[in-house]
Amino acid sequence: MEKKLEKVLNQGLEKIKEIKSIEETQDVRRELMGKKSPLNEVLKTLGSLDKDLRKSIGMKATEIKNTLAKKLDEKENLIIESKSVLSSPLDLTLPGTKIGSGVLHPVTQMCYDLNDAFLSLGFEVFSEDDISSEKYAFDNLNFAPDHPARQMMDTYWLKGTEDKPCNEKLCLRPHLTGASVRYLLKHGAPARFVYPGRVYRNENADSSHERAFFQYEALIVDKDFSFSSGMVMIKTILEKVFGREIKTRMREGFFPFVEPGYEIDMQCVVCEGKGCSVCKHNGWIEVMPGGVIHPNVLKSAGLSPDEWTGFYINIGLERLVMMRYGVDNVRLFHSADLRFLEQFK
Ligand SMILES: [Zn+2]
Repeated sequence: MEKKLEKVLNQGLEKIKEIKSIEETQDVRRELMGKKSPLNEVLKTLGSLDKDLRKSIGMKATEIKNTLAKKLDEKENLIIESKSVLSSPLDLTLPGTKIGSGVLHPVTQMCYDLNDAFLSLGFEVFSEDDISSEKYAFDNLNFAPDHPARQMMDTYWLKGTEDKPCNEKLCLRPHLTGASVRYLLKHGAPARFVYPGRVYRNENADSSHERAFFQYEALIVDKDFSFSSGMVMIKTILEKVFGREIKTRMREGFFPFVEPGYEIDMQCVVCEGKGCSVCKHNGWIEVMPGGVIHPNVLKSAGLSPDEWTGFYINIGLERLVMMRYGVDNVRLFHSADLRFLEQFK
């Protein structure tokens, strides 16, 4: 009986050695340890043996069964490992594959930062279509009928609408200010809102002119809104965006939709006013025109100039971005050169 068991073990081990696939492992397992296996046949006869022999044969048979099962498991694992997708040994010290990530354009980021600053002061973000009309782009805003900006030279008029009345004569908006009257007609006063967006000019593109560019305008309309409140508002916005104290100054400026109008400068934060290439050695940089809303614009918006007043600012996004990063060439921001833009991650 013992010799028979010895033979079962040796034949079993031989068979396991020759296994080449997972399927074969299953077949051999059934063959060596299934109901009809020689090992099982031996176990079935145990009952007819005397007590001592039954014990020793029983122990031997169990031991053989365990050995075969263990060898089969080992073989199975070996086959699985050899089928691994790795063609070479795994080296955890090798550098990984870098996954590229996108980043907001610095001008977009500045626009979002301004939105956050204005929202924190209770402003609303408003937007309108890029296509406007002569009525909204000029008439409502106190532009004289013969103002040069109305001519073909500056504004893209839409073909087929040139001879139509002013509210049907369409154009790509040459500035954002038209949106202010549109908002006021819809929502009334008091109001405080910003309206960022793209504007279009029919110009020859060169180093300092683009045919389309971004503007960021804000308007506050209220009773007794003073000029000095406007100054405080501008200073607050700039300090929120730059996270430090900013010196500002105003100079006289002229725009049809404001009276009085101003050019608002901020002290160069790159050189602290000493003069550098970013501020063209001036110490100051012009960042936004603005002023008190013209009475005729209030009338266009259906508001009485005796009751209401307001304050416009039109922020040059690119100027602020130049200040933020100390970059002296604005065209770099529009170059789509990733070597430059990736620095702002
Ligand atoms: Zn400077």
